[in-house]
Amino acid sequence: MLSRTGWREVPCVECGAFVPDIGFGDRCPSCLARRSRRATRIARRSALGLTALMAAWTLLHLPAATMGRWYALIGIPVTYLLIYMIVRRVAMEALP
Ligand SMILES: [Zn+2]
Repeated sequence: MLSRTGWREVPCVECGAFVPDIGFGDRCPSCLARRSRRATRIARRSALGLTALMAAWTLLHLPAATMGRWYALIGIPVTYLLIYMIVRRVAMEALP
């Protein structure tokens, strides 16, 4: 029986193993999982480092007892989440 792509098996673009139900230029599930783990690790480390820099800058440069500190406190986890999502997406596309 043919797969949804019309071919019986298609080679993985990364490892070359013939796998059913993938398209030309796609990766097999094991290569995709390995790539996802690497991208997640890079994204987590990048987000932690850059968020720590942002938090340190915020603590050093904002005056005490202002409403800005509370907004910065809210902004720190949001910064982590955004950096994590952006770096993970770029890493998934750009990893060799
Ligand atoms: Zn593969």
